Amino acid sequence: MGRLRRSRTHKAQRDVHRASRTRARTKDLDQIQADLLPARRALLEAQPIDPDLPGLGQHYCVECARYFESDAALKVHWRGKLHKRRCTRLREPAYTIEEAERAAGLGRETRTRKPEVAMEQDA
Ligand SMILES: [Zn+2]
Repeated sequence: MGRLRRSRTHKAQRDVHRASRTRARTKDLDQIQADLLPARRALLEAQPIDPDLPGLGQHYCVECARYFESDAALKVHWRGKLHKRRCTRLREPAYTIEEAERAAGLGRETRTRKPEVAMEQDA
């Protein structure tokens, strides 16, 4: 059989395999949302000097959980597409265990039941 699908259809998600490797693992969005709380954020932005981290760990983007070499690089990153995309994704509520259980039909039903509709009208 011939080719069914044209090649290069995944241009928007180049690094999916790389991102799933444990070596390249970054923080998940729900972990970052916890970091965005003002107390945690202040701690992360004023980290002690660590020679193992890029830029001695002094230039950290909380939203992306990334270290940068310099303040200039961090500022350029803040204006960039990746950072803005991450910010919009972080504005959505985090995926919780409760939501997963609700999807599986296990969770507590918090919705109020709809008022009973009279069925006689349809018959
Ligand atoms: Zn960022």
